[in-house]
Amino acid sequence: MTVLWKDVHMTEIDWANTKVYVAGHRGLVGSALVRALEAAGAGEIIGWSSGELDLRDRDATLDAINEAQPDVVIDAAARVGGIMANSTYPVDFLKDNLLIQTNVMDAAHAANVERFLFLGSSCIYPRHATQPIRESSLMTGPLEPTNQAYAMAKIAGIYYIEAFRTQYGRRWISAMPTNLYGPRDNFNLETSHVLPAFIHRFHDAKQSGAEKVTVWGTGAPRREFLHVDDLAQACLLLLQKYDSSETINIGWGDDLPIKDLAETVANVIGFEGEIEWDTSKPDGMPRKLLDTSRINALGWYPSIKLRDGVASTYDWYLENA
Ligand code: GDP
Repeated sequence: MTVLWKDVHMTEIDWANTKVYVAGHRGLVGSALVRALEAAGAGEIIGWSSGELDLRDRDATLDAINEAQPDVVIDAAARVGGIMANSTYPVDFLKDNLLIQTNVMDAAHAANVERFLFLGSSCIYPRHATQPIRESSLMTGPLEPTNQAYAMAKIAGIYYIEAFRTQYGRRWISAMPTNLYGPRDNFNLETSHVLPAFIHRFHDAKQSGAEKVTVWGTGAPRREFLHVDDLAQACLLLLQKYDSSETINIGWGDDLPIKDLAETVANVIGFEGEIEWDTSKPDGMPRKLLDTSRINALGWYPSIKLRDGVASTYDWYLENA
């Protein structure tokens, strides 16, 4: 039986007495989760770097999680990448993500983990989904081809969570964040998403005194951006308050054209030259704005405005990249 999200009243997690395993704890999302869990006073937070534990290795993953015996698992481990990486390496994106999520969930099941949060992405929704995109749009139409491999894996993950609920009664959940950004993002121009790519490109141009920066596509697609620290707060709240087989969106609630994002980032960095659009590069999905009424009804709203988030992410980039 499907549990209706509105009807569920959860008991509060006592973070001080909770051991949380964050898969992918060094990444953009995982590191934000660790910050939020520390601030919430989590009793113990565990994580392994990819060098310490390769989550594609089934036996090693089962052993590590069985030994650690966490109470809560948040799966923020994934092979991620921007529009070019995703469309150039579909085998890697499909295979690695299927392996990682299946191994982590099977291991958590074997270790009898009570609460599990699986994180996906807004690219799981159909290319022509009605905007803003509601959770019920899942599997109602064809996917955007440029990120289909990643999306297919994440859709399988959502259904695997649901399967554990159905077959074993596990109180496991999945959530779908919009485009994320913040400290520890991937700033590699070949594989990154658009916002860190803009920070990298405009910073380099400012440093070298270049008059022009070339970016991809037409600039017309619209995207929504959420800072990872806002996302992390949403995740903690969902672990406390959400218990449904249906996935739940996490977004900012509004979007902007890529062209406007380019201007915002250029402005924060202080690049005053020309922005040229290479239309031989793909635009990807025309728009993917999430409907966030479900999570807003639980009391969560984001707080970090795009310009402030870009500025603090740029500060991080200057200090660390
Ligand atoms: P998407 O949201 O899955 O499409 O992934 P991206 O964040 O990689 O791309 C978002 C949009 O930004 C697409 O329309 C890209 O063509 C555009 N874009 C413009 N310049 C760049 C760039 O330098 N890197 C990336 N990754 N995207 C860019």
